[in-house]
Amino acid sequence: MKIAIFGAGQLAMMMVQADTEKNHEYIVIDPSQSPPASKYAKHIQTEYSDLKTLDEIANNYDVATIDFENVDVSAMREIDKKIPVHPSPSALEICQDRINEKNLFKLLDIKTTLYYEINSLLDLENNVDSKKRYILKTRRFGYDGKNQYRINSNTSLSTNLISSPCILEELVDFNAEVSLIAVRSVNGNTFFYPLVENQHKEGILDMSIYPSNYQELQASAEKIGTKLLDEMKYIGVLVIEFFVDKNNELIANEMAPRVHNSGHWTIEGSNVSQFSAHISAITNTMKSKELRLKPSFMYNIISKHVSEDKILQLSNKLDIHIHDYHKTPRDKRKLGHITCTAKNKDRLEEKIRDFKEII
Ligand code: ATP
Ligand code: MG
Repeated sequence: MKIAIFGAGQLAMMMVQADTEKNHEYIVIDPSQSPPASKYAKHIQTEYSDLKTLDEIANNYDVATIDFENVDVSAMREIDKKIPVHPSPSALEICQDRINEKNLFKLLDIKTTLYYEINSLLDLENNVDSKKRYILKTRRFGYDGKNQYRINSNTSLSTNLISSPCILEELVDFNAEVSLIAVRSVNGNTFFYPLVENQHKEGILDMSIYPSNYQELQASAEKIGTKLLDEMKYIGVLVIEFFVDKNNELIANEMAPRVHNSGHWTIEGSNVSQFSAHISAITNTMKSKELRLKPSFMYNIISKHVSEDKILQLSNKLDIHIHDYHKTPRDKRKLGHITCTAKNKDRLEEKIRDFKEII
């Protein structure tokens, strides 16, 4: 099939790379100059809503998908009149806005953080209780912890905090963060990867570890995943991020309507990576296969590349896989990731200790 991917970052890059048998033909659309996926697929450098490009895609391609959730929804609706867009523009519309997302959780009786819609300083003053701690986030365009402010009794509330519509969330006191990767194909075939545990540093994902210490929560996570897939009539990979609270219950944080950083370990750690799962789901070529998984960890390379000396030390001690996104270093930018697998969980924990000592 001919597949158009809106957004040509590392996620699109890994989707194209996953198709090792070259079953499909890809085009990537992205306004930036030489983004990661442009090394592996034909690239149109343009805004996502460029009419000529939308027309070209709708007339010459079989299916469209995204690697970036903030594409223009009305542009996706235009394409959707002629060829399928997976996930659907309406699913994107929900996932682009934290309030829509949380409202959907509420509608489906999915536990989530207490939240308030904030459009003015008055809204903020009316909802902040000085005895509690919060996070104020912009409703749209936030990622990697950007556009988020912690609010507690010492914070002086001012209009500067609200440059665009916001959501105020109560801070969840959590034992851990986990994510569920759900996959649903055009024909309805659905599967879930086991929960992964995610560790963040300064709001950015630092490490993902499979298996998590919360395997007993898998059934409830899948129940939530199924409700969301059903409600959004979702096709493709959907990721749900959760907090595990002090009662070891799942509290939904947010969704990503795409392949996700917490699933990168599946390239080496699974016989079916999240990237090939997404492509086969949207092209309706998903074969039911038993998932074979290896205990794995994934570490994000952020802001600057890992020195050659450290790579050497790591490679001498561990069987690591390095993925380079071919990006210029910049503060808090994801430049690549490293994965390592192990034969069992104990061995994985040893490997994580060794890895952290060197890195
Ligand atoms: P990403 O794109 O990396 O998933 P994001 O910018 O979309 O991140 P969130 O996932 O909502 O934003 O927040 C980033 C991190 O900040 C969370 O993984 C968590 O560690 C922390 N965080 C966010 N909201 C809360 C909350 N309500 N309570 C406690 N911690 C939170
Ligand atoms: Mg998140």
